[in-house]
Amino acid sequence: MEKNAKIYIAGIYGMVGAAIARHLRAQGFNNLIGHSSKELDLTSQKAVFDFFKTEKPDYVFLAAAKVGGIYANNSYPADFIYSNICIQTNIIHSAYIFRAKKLLFLGSSCIYPKLAEQPMKESCLLTGELEPTNEPYALAKIAGIKMCQAYNRQYHTSFISCMPTNLYGPNDNYDLMNAHVLPALVRKVHEAKSNKQDSFVVWGTGSPRREFLYVDDLAEACVFLMNEYLHDETINVGSGQEVTIKELAETIRDVVGFKGNLVFDSSKPDGTPRKLLDVSRLKSMGWVPKHTLKKGIELAYEDFLSGKVRM
Ligand code: GDP
Repeated sequence: MEKNAKIYIAGIYGMVGAAIARHLRAQGFNNLIGHSSKELDLTSQKAVFDFFKTEKPDYVFLAAAKVGGIYANNSYPADFIYSNICIQTNIIHSAYIFRAKKLLFLGSSCIYPKLAEQPMKESCLLTGELEPTNEPYALAKIAGIKMCQAYNRQYHTSFISCMPTNLYGPNDNYDLMNAHVLPALVRKVHEAKSNKQDSFVVWGTGSPRREFLYVDDLAEACVFLMNEYLHDETINVGSGQEVTIKELAETIRDVVGFKGNLVFDSSKPDGTPRKLLDVSRLKSMGWVPKHTLKKGIELAYEDFLSGKVRM
């Protein structure tokens, strides 16, 4: 990407889009565009078409999506499949019509089969049943990957996709019913400490394993891929390391400085048992993340304490 190229970041006010914008600005890119969902409704075909017609961006980071944790995905499956298919279809098609030089579509590690061999290689896509709690979201994301590939094949576009693992960091969502596990536990442990409780609740059994990546590391990887990667096959972005939910809760408890116990609520779903990405392709290109889980949680907790987060 040239430093003065016009770069559209769809989802610029979300956790991922904001991190990509921060990273690009720090690198000297000064022609970034992006809107809030109130300014530009990405589910509207006409609004997106008109926006691309006016702006004609050179590069597109497609980081806009309706996202949520296990409870939200399980409770609002229609909203997840509808919003995500609309947003990505409108943007990918407009990027083709108005000749964007390159587009990066962001997916999610939940696109891979529930019982995929671990760590999950890019090639295990569509080789088995999906995890039911987030199947509608995962199917939307799979459609996005396939749409990028179809446009490349038929129209010779340069549309690539990457699959990030579970993300966290500045601008995360701390609303307990919509949040992912890491921000939810940061909030719960903080409140348990502030309210002088003797425990906090962890959903499920604590035994599922998850991999986490600090969002600024993902942003750096996205810009790296936009510059360096041009293949149809999607590419995984993760830390390559997993922890159990119990270990995660204990690490958060240490960072927050809470001395109480964990109480497991097994009436809540565990979801998929493991979700570790095989990141060897990205690693072989020379990219590795900078933040350890502990460091990342410390930074996320600082952001939470700033009081400017979504609750
Ligand atoms: P997933 O990775 O798509 O399953 O989504 P989540 O990040 O929401 O959940 C990951 C795991 O953390 C699941 O096993 C949840 O049951 C568990 N978990 C434990 N406590 C919480 C919590 O307070 N909120 C959420 N969202 N998940 C929790």
